[in-house]
Parts: sequence; structure tokens; C-alpha cells
Amino acid sequence: MTRKEFIKNFAALGAGLPFLSLFLESCDKENGLLYPDFDVNFSGKVIVIGAGAAGLTAGYLLNKYNIDFQIIEASSVFGGRIKRDNTFADFPIDIGAEWIHEDPSILAKLISDASINAEIDVITYSPDTVYNFKNNKLKKQNFGGNFYSEYKFKNTTWYGFFEKYIASNISNKIVYNSPVNKINYSGEKVTINTTNGHSFEADKVLVTVPIKILQEGSIDFVPSLPATKKAAIDSIEMPDGLKVFIEFSEKFYPDILFTGGLLSEVQAQDKLFYNAAFGKDSDKNVLGLFVVGKKATAYTSLADDNAIFNAILVELDSIFDGKASQTYIKHIVQNWSKEPFVQGSYSYVFNASEEETVKTLLEPLDNKVFFAGEALSADNGATVPGAGETAYAVIETMLK
Ligand SMILES: Cc1cc2nc3c(=O)[nH]c(=O)nc-3n(C[C@H](O)[C@H](O)[C@H](O)COP(=O)(O)OP(=O)(O)OC[C@H]3O[C@@H](n4cnc5c(N)ncnc54)[C@H](O)[C@@H]3O)c2cc1C
Repeated sequence: MTRKEFIKNFAALGAGLPFLSLFLESCDKENGLLYPDFDVNFSGKVIVIGAGAAGLTAGYLLNKYNIDFQIIEASSVFGGRIKRDNTFADFPIDIGAEWIHEDPSILAKLISDASINAEIDVITYSPDTVYNFKNNKLKKQNFGGNFYSEYKFKNTTWYGFFEKYIASNISNKIVYNSPVNKINYSGEKVTINTTNGHSFEADKVLVTVPIKILQEGSIDFVPSLPATKKAAIDSIEMPDGLKVFIEFSEKFYPDILFTGGLLSEVQAQDKLFYNAAFGKDSDKNVLGLFVVGKKATAYTSLADDNAIFNAILVELDSIFDGKASQTYIKHIVQNWSKEPFVQGSYSYVFNASEEETVKTLLEPLDNKVFFAGEALSADNGATVPGAGETAYAVIETMLK
């Protein structure tokens, strides 16, 4: 299910599914390939900019097709908006993307290699207890039944999945700590410059940086981006985003807690507190907060992570009668808006002109500079699967 479908269904029907754990034999070999084999008609060098889900998937494919490539990454790690914390709890925590947002067979499709027998245990995410806090009242929501299927990893994370299956064969191709600030595609070869003074040359370049990075203009394109492309880039909203995890000595909270009205939360603002240990093998009480959009800005505009956490504790205390302060153990704040090479959450292009916008975004420059990433997915924007799928599509276009 795409994020858009999720939102639509959620708004229409409400929440709640019985719990069940499903063991995924990853490789549905018959349906495992997103794209059929094709004849590669390219033998030059490719530079991929950005080592998030899209950039890593692109590298994984280039490696499969024996193409000479490098991935230039601004930060010191791969993953981008997929990120893991291994130490906070007794299970690995997704402090960026967390829900699979698709049928789990998407994992096999992202791997697309019949020789890899991935065994990935997933949780059918079906919260038992859903509450809403509105007008100072905490109210249980009794929704009419099963309305959507959503999944999470049981023992791993999005980061763990990419680390094991996608990044492991290409880690020596990633150049870290190298923010790209110039892409010159005026000549036969494309020249790439980084802020630390290095330059690279390639026949083709794939740009997978977040749309916010393109909007702020920190990458200088020579020649300049066509006006239509610039307008398409600028038209996409990528609002603030934040995740917080808090460990308590008691589980005083429900599996899901919305504050301020279900429809407004899910449709416009995306804010929920949730039991992050749901379905995991864990003895810990870990409450997550996921917030994107205007409600995220209310937190991300505070002075620092301490101020953010204190505001959340006050909020929880007011809902649960001081229980949060009384049982608090520790917390982590992941402020995605303050990550210098991300600067927000994900794209919001849920309108009628989206298809046209995405088409314009995807158009390569002189058949030399290509684009991929979550914001460029027409059907699955704002998600990890969507980011991966754009890489599959663009690599096929590039190499054919
Ligand atoms: C709070 C939050 C919750 C989310 N929850 C989910 C979820 O539950 N499920 C889901 O599927 N998706 C979720 N998402 C969305 C998902 O994380 C993204 O859609 C996906 O990870 C984006 O992948 P990407 O490769 O397009 O971009 P990114 O992951 O952002 O990768 C881009 C890479 O480019 C690098 N970069 C930036 N600038 C430069 C430069 N100048 N030079 C070189 N490198 C550069 C960055 O460091 C980064 O590594 C969530 C996102 C957030 C923020």
C-alpha cells in the first residue's frame, strides 16, 4: 500500500488490525524482478550523488551490470533518511523510515536477485489499542475492523536491510564526507566538484539528493537547470520531520495515540505517538513519536533537542497525569530538519499535477545528468520503496 493509499484509507475507515507475525521467504522468484532483463548499451563511468535508498539501489544495480561507478556522499555514513540506533533499546530502532508501506514482497523486488535467499521476519503492524486525545479528553477509538495492512521489520530495520542486501557489495565504491557543490555537464564528460576540493569525472551522473537540497541551490549546475525543471523542483513541499523515542519503566500509553483529531492528523499533519516495541522481541517500554509537517515545525523550531524533549514530556504528562515524568528512563531525538544534507522529512506532492511534476523532475539533462529519489516517484513518493523504484527505472533508462 502506498503512503497515499494509506492516508486515503485511514481517513475513510479508521484504524485497527489483529496482530499476526509473518515470516517472509524473501524471494518470490517469479515476481521478484521489478524490471525485465535488458541489453546494456553503455560502457562508460557513472557517478551517483547521494548514498540514501535511491543512491544505494542505483549502485547495487550498476554493480550487477558491471558498470564502473562511484557514489559520492556528503555525510560520513550511508543510508540518508534510513538510519538505525542499535544501542537505545533491546531491539534495533528505525530512527528514520520505519514502516514498510508496501506488501513485504517489495523487499525481494528491491533485491531482485534469485540467488539471494533473504529471510526477513516482518510484523503485520496492527495496533491493538488506539486512542485519541482531544479537548483534554483521552478517548479509545473503536474502529470497525481491519482496514489496511501495514508492515514493519521484526528483528532488523530499513538500515539493516540495506546494509545486508544492498550496500554490502558496493561499500568500497562510496566516497564519504564529500558534499557535491557543482555539476558541470557542458562538455562531453560531466565534472563534479565537492566542497572539500575534490573533483570527479564521469560519462553520466545520477543525482539522488533530497529535493530540499536541490531547492536551496547548494549544487551549482553548469549549464543552469532548465526553467521548467527548476519550477518543478521548487513546487514540491518537503516539510519538517522529527522522530523521538522515550523509554519508560511502565507502559502507560496505548499502541497508537493521536492528538487533536484523527483526520486532521493523518491527512494534513502526520503526528502520532506509538508503541515502538510493538511486535518486537523486547522487554522495554519504548514510546515513539513520529511527526511531519506543521506540527513538526512546532518542535523543530525550538532551541535544541533538550527543548524539544521537554515540550514532549510536558505534553505526555498532561495527557497521562504526570506518568511520563514519573516513569521516564531515557530518550533520543532525531531532528531530520536539522540534518544538514536532508533538511526535512519527505516530499508532499499529493495533488493532481503531480504526474506532470514528476515527469519534469525525471527528465535527464542532455542524456548525461539523471535524477532519482523518493520525490521523483509518481506512485510511491515519500517512501523507501519509492526511492528504490526510481533507481531501478532510471538505471534502466541510463544503460539501455
Ligand atoms: C521522520 C521520517 C519518517 C519516515 N518514515 C518512513 C517510513 O516509515 N517508511 C518509508 O518507507 N519511508 C519513510 N520515510 C521516508 C524515507 O525515509 C525516504 O523517502 C527515503 O529514505 C528517501 O531516500 P532517498 O535516497 O530518496 O533520499 P535520502 O535518503 O535523503 O538520500 C539522499 C542522500 O544524499 C546525500 N546528500 C545530500 N546532499 C548531498 C550533496 N550535496 N552531495 C552528496 N550527497 C548529498 C544525503 O546525505 C543522503 O545520504 C520517512 C522519512 C522521515 C524523515
